[in-house]
Amino acid sequence: MRYVSTRGQSASIGFLDAVLAGLAPDGGLYVPAEWPSFTAKEIAAFAGKPYAQVAAAVVGKFVGDDIPTADLAEMCEEAYATFAHTAVTPIKQLTPNRYLLELFHGPTLAFKDVAMQLLGRLYDYVLERQSRKMTIICATSGDTGGAAVEAFRGRKNARIVALFPEGRISEVQRRFMTTAADANVACVSILGSFDDCQHIVKQAFQDDQFRHAVDLSGVNSINWARIAAQSVYYFTSAVALGAPEREVAFVVPTGNFGDAYAAFVARKLGLPIHSVTAATNSNDILARAIETGRYARGAVAATQSPAMDIQVASNFERLYFEAVRRDGTETARAFRAFADTGLLDIPPGAHAWMRELFRGASVSEADTAKTMLSTLNETGEVIDPHTAVGLAAAVSVDVPASVPVVVLSTAHPAKFPEAVQAATGLLPATPRATPDLSKKPEKFERLPADGSSVKAFVRTFAANS
Ligand SMILES: *Cc1c(COP(=O)(O)O)cnc(C)c1O
Repeated sequence: MRYVSTRGQSASIGFLDAVLAGLAPDGGLYVPAEWPSFTAKEIAAFAGKPYAQVAAAVVGKFVGDDIPTADLAEMCEEAYATFAHTAVTPIKQLTPNRYLLELFHGPTLAFKDVAMQLLGRLYDYVLERQSRKMTIICATSGDTGGAAVEAFRGRKNARIVALFPEGRISEVQRRFMTTAADANVACVSILGSFDDCQHIVKQAFQDDQFRHAVDLSGVNSINWARIAAQSVYYFTSAVALGAPEREVAFVVPTGNFGDAYAAFVARKLGLPIHSVTAATNSNDILARAIETGRYARGAVAATQSPAMDIQVASNFERLYFEAVRRDGTETARAFRAFADTGLLDIPPGAHAWMRELFRGASVSEADTAKTMLSTLNETGEVIDPHTAVGLAAAVSVDVPASVPVVVLSTAHPAKFPEAVQAATGLLPATPRATPDLSKKPEKFERLPADGSSVKAFVRTFAANS
């Protein structure tokens, strides 16, 4: 299976290289050169299969011959054995036609674990075979960092640096990163926003000398293996609800557009998805882009759902590339102009194509809190603020009565105890399997939002670990 850049100027690469690559050298994102697909019969056969087996089949479509089937199956088996629920990503019915897809049963209580647990094992596998040691740098709006640290800590062939925006993530989120005592983990509190962190990472990748010096790699939501791993739960949930005979609609709490784009990938693979609603908090760049055709950066506002406090949605470039019929030159022009001006007008034909699958909805802080309370009152379920954004957006989703609406529940409520308590009066209990991190010592550096300070820090860390 070959991968090409959305900007059309980089040579194609294989799956294993795409796993390690992060951004393409031309600044684009890797996508499959051709879309694989399943037949309806193959999709129907997923019914009743264990999650790890469906994962091996779906991810296997993107791996091609690069990893022997038995090895991939074993990695999937191990990755999903770390989850505290035997169904891995169970669905829960809320109303006759509305369901929650619980993605938070992994070790750090957010959906990022689903992809990261597999990615950590894929890295080990590839680096072992290449006798190579890499430095992973990861900008996090909260949950990616913890999931990445958990997936990579103690691994022999990779060290990890997690950058997070100071004061913009919850204490629980921070402690999942900063309490890892392993020598191959470094955490950096950046005096800036998540977009600043993401910008520093992008700059680091564009600095060839630095990239080679520390053998840099990225596991942010642009990583293709993460997207592939995230497309799996669209299959397991839709099949459980009657696919492929029946269409299913999804509502996806969205920040960097990785999870919502993975729904598009599932549809490309043949899953009959009715529609995908990208639900944002008041940082609504994506909801606006999908609704109006204008992708325009705004200022980042802090909300109750901090993992979605993002105004540049990296994976949107992948959808744009498809929307302009895989024209790399046009994609490069559009996203270079966006980097300079913060504005991109989607051509009308491309916008109409996006709207065949996607809808956008933004949810206010007040409606997020109200939804946490009403869900508790009506169903007894305690939900986290990111899930609440999705559920609030689901109210306006327009589907025929025969189409079930599945809202992705992206974090466990115990990960955002302050917001949940403020909205419902209840303090959510931490699941039994989660270790108590509140008394463990924290280890992190504080640095200004400036690329050269971060690079200097990473060089020293890489030289000494
Ligand atoms: C990362 C995250 C999101 C947003 O996912 P994207 O793939 O960035 O759109 C939503 N909710 C939670 C809890 C997250 O951690």
